[in-house]
Amino acid sequence: MNVSKVMADLERKHPGEEEYLQAVREVLESIEEVYNQHPEFEKAKIVERMVEPDRVITFRVTWVDDSGEIQTNIGYRVQFNSAIGPYKGGIRFHNAVNQSMLKFLGFEQTFKNALTTLPMGGAKGGSDFNPKGKSNAEIMRFCQAFMLELWQNIGPDTDVPAGDVGVGGREIGYMYGMYKKLAREYNTGVLTGKGMTWGGSLIRPEATGFGALYFTEHMLQKAGKDIKGKTIAISGFGNVAWGAATKATELGAKVIAISGPDGVIYNPEGMTQEKLDYMLELRASNRDIVAPFAEEFEDATFIAGKKAWSIKCDIALPCAFQNELNEADAKELLANGTWCVAEVSNMGCTPEAIAAFQEAGILFAPGKAVNAGGVATSGLEMTQNAQHLSWSAEEVDQKLHYIMSQIHEACVRFGEQADGAINYVKGANIAGFMKVAQAMLEQGAI
Ligand code: GLU
Repeated sequence: MNVSKVMADLERKHPGEEEYLQAVREVLESIEEVYNQHPEFEKAKIVERMVEPDRVITFRVTWVDDSGEIQTNIGYRVQFNSAIGPYKGGIRFHNAVNQSMLKFLGFEQTFKNALTTLPMGGAKGGSDFNPKGKSNAEIMRFCQAFMLELWQNIGPDTDVPAGDVGVGGREIGYMYGMYKKLAREYNTGVLTGKGMTWGGSLIRPEATGFGALYFTEHMLQKAGKDIKGKTIAISGFGNVAWGAATKATELGAKVIAISGPDGVIYNPEGMTQEKLDYMLELRASNRDIVAPFAEEFEDATFIAGKKAWSIKCDIALPCAFQNELNEADAKELLANGTWCVAEVSNMGCTPEAIAAFQEAGILFAPGKAVNAGGVATSGLEMTQNAQHLSWSAEEVDQKLHYIMSQIHEACVRFGEQADGAINYVKGANIAGFMKVAQAMLEQGAI
């Protein structure tokens, strides 16, 4: 394979799909060497097939807002790859959602899901619907209108959506209710991230953040470091940031920053249970601002217009959105002495930021490994649904912990360099790729 040639072809076919092209380039650059040692992959045109989604479903979503006005959004489901199992991946509601974003996320999801050790293919969906400022009734009507179009394309053994940015337990509830009504199917396994009384799994709401901290702990351990007493800056204040802040605090680290589109909260005393609970209230308010945190807790300060990366910290955890940490941010972190960055958001760092971290020789791990605990626990939710039973929180947490340790081990196995340092980007990409490629090879030219 020649990465430049594959990329030139893709750029010609999909002009302007920046995030998608960025995600593909990152994977291809890190697998190139291994790929070229496998002529059977080249012969089966694995890469050429793997970079294109199996299908992209696009639909119009029309709904009526509280003032009686008709609104129209675009809905998507990108079913990317089913080589190792039914399609699986979240749904994102955000005004910036477009086909390129969901293709990048579906592509990433394919490798992430392969890393979880569970049999799940990759998918992603969503809409350019902006939940900011919407009432509960508007959210419900939108979710119902979205499912009215999507339901025929999903199913417990076909495609299992879940939450993502802008889609949490409430939205999953509204979508699941509508799915049942339309499909006359009462199989709980069609969506994950459900409520606890109707097929949800304990620990699923916490899983992405908890898993990220389990992974970070393993990474630190491997480098001979301890998380206790370390300062952590987190971007975002949604479900993922909340889970990460909760587990980091439990492990004895100090979460000194959380942030929103409006600025950063400097929280030098760290988190308390009250503060963690308040993060959930902030997210549920649909206002997309973090400033009220400083009005609620007087030891915290709000700094308008600044990112979490302006706060001096040991460990940085991007938990918000793709490309939220750029080269300038990376330089600021490095100048302030940050020595570990674990991406919890999908593709949270730009390629230039990753290069800066790698050049400085600090610990860096990519989202598809660090945040895989969310979808892994979705996989565990599917298993419980298929068995018609529910496991205890301890059992789910233990399995999540084990899966994260397996993912870390896979990264080490495929990412260990001659000098003993671990290239986690390479490790995660090669481990995920090898599994999907092998499955595609054995299933023939389809
Ligand atoms: N949206 C999450 C992710 O990026 C979770 C997906 C899922 O649970 O299916 O992995």
